[in-house]
Amino acid sequence: MPPLHTPAPDADERDDLRDAAVEGFRARYGTDPEGVWQAPGRVNLIGEHTDYNDGFVLPLALPQATRVAAARRDDGRLRLHSAQAAQGAEVELAGLVPGAVSGWAGYPAAVVWALREAGFEVGGADLYVDSDVPVGAGLSSSAALECAVGLAYSDLYGLDLEPSRIALLAQRAENDFAGVPCGVMDQMASSCCAPGAALFLDTRDLSSRQVPLDLADAGLVLLVVDTQVKHELADGAYAARRAGCERSAELLGLAALRDLPPTDLEAALTRLPEGELRALTRHVVTEDARVERVVALLDAGDLRGIGPLLTEGHASLRDDFAVSCEETDLVVATAAAAGALGARMTGGGFGGSVVVLAERADAERIAGAVAEAFAAAGWKPPRSFTAVPSAGARRLGFPAAVHNEG
Ligand code: ADP
Ligand code: MG
Repeated sequence: MPPLHTPAPDADERDDLRDAAVEGFRARYGTDPEGVWQAPGRVNLIGEHTDYNDGFVLPLALPQATRVAAARRDDGRLRLHSAQAAQGAEVELAGLVPGAVSGWAGYPAAVVWALREAGFEVGGADLYVDSDVPVGAGLSSSAALECAVGLAYSDLYGLDLEPSRIALLAQRAENDFAGVPCGVMDQMASSCCAPGAALFLDTRDLSSRQVPLDLADAGLVLLVVDTQVKHELADGAYAARRAGCERSAELLGLAALRDLPPTDLEAALTRLPEGELRALTRHVVTEDARVERVVALLDAGDLRGIGPLLTEGHASLRDDFAVSCEETDLVVATAAAAGALGARMTGGGFGGSVVVLAERADAERIAGAVAEAFAAAGWKPPRSFTAVPSAGARRLGFPAAVHNEG
């Protein structure tokens, strides 16, 4: 097989993390990988549960990312190992159908399946995965894994896929193979985000725009608080919310709830049965409007102005969409009381993480107040870190030294 083009390493690249992936690959497979690819986790600034309603989202990529060291195989086999998983897996591509691979290996296998389903005649590979994206924290470690594998395959097999194409294939993989009915936000964020910006994405047609988000320059911090809880009902509840939204749109004669303008909301609600469907609809319509208002404020350079919209968004997710939980509600309430500009749960809900916008000078005190509140409630301490808007999926520069050693 022809050698791959080797780009120069980017300045912001963490060589130690790339090298760890290379070393892990060598230890497992006894040869050098052909390259290392990485895709980030994400937080969503605002626009929650809108992506399966053809609506708007505004995610940013995290510096935490999943790396995949990879080399092609010509025997139609996919071999998989992860530094985060005890068990590896070996898969014959010829018999690869949804349900054939369980556990974590289902995610990378699903991406290869989706590529082949889309007509790309890709072959096997050895893959070694390593990641510093917290797993199951609502920060999209699953999309990071899928998009890193998708980009690795695109490069290795010369497919030259657009980032948004990789995102769609990764979403298909998660929907139809892993069986998770997610929208397209996570994969688009992981594939398409740019450093220093949030991605304003219209999930109807995938048109997008990078919205500058220079938090440091404004003296602000976006804190991510990982509650470290994931409640059991998450998966079933997600599917139920999605079905409810689709039912509402159908009853209103709309292609999707995105098509209901805020000015028509009150009248439309009276045409829905009282209760859940009205609440779901109200969340989606008001949330889309909040995303547009946040983008307008960011465009105008008013970063502090978005705080109240974040908190309003959380109230809507708590009261109307009913996907928050005690832990995320406590983070939001405690952060507000400790002087945060705004806070909301991020991701699907029922646990996971909260984003908190704060003055840099207040961030540590707010994180401390949240930790104390968790201790007082008798809960495991949350993990907090600062979100720096980072790059989307990319190939990492591969040092010549690695190739030469062999
Ligand atoms: P989230 O995407 O919010 O982190 P999910 O439940 O959607 O949570 O995805 C987590 C799953 O993705 C894990 O249980 C595992 O199967 C898979 N996964 C993610 N990252 C890795 C990794 N580095 N190594 C192995 N499996 C991973
Ligand atoms: Mg996920």
